Amino acid sequence: MQEAWIQLRCPDCGEQWEANPADLPEPDGTLGCNHCDTSRRVAEFTKTTRDFEILREFHR
Ligand SMILES: [Zn+2]
Repeated sequence: MQEAWIQLRCPDCGEQWEANPADLPEPDGTLGCNHCDTSRRVAEFTKTTRDFEILREFHR
């Protein structure tokens, strides 16, 4: 079984955390930060292009 956790960083408060793609919305969806009140597109939280690709692969 492949565990691919991805790195997220909130563009507003700068908080960083790891998430399982299974717990995240689709790449076009909106994610709410647990550390502040912001809601943005998931792509704005992914730290690197690679992290975003993992999420995209997961939801393909
Ligand atoms: Zn935040």
